[in-house]
Amino acid sequence: MLYEAPAELLTNKILLVTGAGDGIGRVAARTYAAHGATVILLGKTTAKLEAVYDEIVAAGHPEPGIAPMDLANVEPQAIQELAEVIEQQYGRLDGLLHNASILGDRAPLEHYDLNLWSRVIQVNLNAVFMLTRILLPALRQSAQASLLFTSSSVGATPRAYWGPYAVSKYGMEGMAKLFAEELENTSNIRVNIINPGATRTRMRAAAYPNENPATVKVPEDLMPLYLYLMGDDSAGVNGKTFNANSW
Ligand code: NDP
Repeated sequence: MLYEAPAELLTNKILLVTGAGDGIGRVAARTYAAHGATVILLGKTTAKLEAVYDEIVAAGHPEPGIAPMDLANVEPQAIQELAEVIEQQYGRLDGLLHNASILGDRAPLEHYDLNLWSRVIQVNLNAVFMLTRILLPALRQSAQASLLFTSSSVGATPRAYWGPYAVSKYGMEGMAKLFAEELENTSNIRVNIINPGATRTRMRAAAYPNENPATVKVPEDLMPLYLYLMGDDSAGVNGKTFNANSW
């Protein structure tokens, strides 16, 4: 699909992007802000979030919020506090892009490190559930909210040696579909899944160290889809999976 987002697509929207300090999340946060959104930047490394904050402010876009949070160790209480700050400051949340994740090792399950297994499942699946569950009341305050989950090709069809990363994405796709069904007739929240496909980031370079990065598309190329799904032009689209390479 060819989609050109209107410049004002996200004006007055309050959005939260996880993993907003780097890679696809960083570009998504900047792009959403450039289309008028107030973006809450959630991520692990505060300095990276501050850099994105500075870029957005320097460009004259709405002032973002910063929410440093290590999803590998986060307790529900910290997310609850974030939800309260969002409700107090903005009164609602219009969109949540679950983008943060970690790759873990590329290794056979038989030899997979047990602690690393738990960490990958925690960041890529448990934390995604906790954030969604605790931020739902704020999303319910929106007239038209978009909840977006980021998967991967190995989330649709698990592939050998992709370990807990594949398992977490597979589980997350199931969770997204349950949320889509459960919220469809009881809320103004639509729920969809994005598979970005091969994209030039740190994670891609770690997964494919022998690949020439110049052969892989950049996060900016994904933005028409990310804008379409976050803006009201996708109102009514629910429970769908979008492959950025063919939509
Ligand atoms: P990057 O590794 O470039 O960025 C990941 C982001 O997640 C970083 O901002 C990172 O923060 C954040 N993050 C990692 N761990 C935590 C944590 N414990 N707590 C909070 N934030 C954390 O990845 P991509 O941009 O490539 O990936 C974005 C999404 O797209 C992921 O869900 C990935 O699975 C998916 N994807 C990517 C593909 C690709 O080819 N790039 C292909 C298919 C799917 P920090 O930098 O501070 O660690």
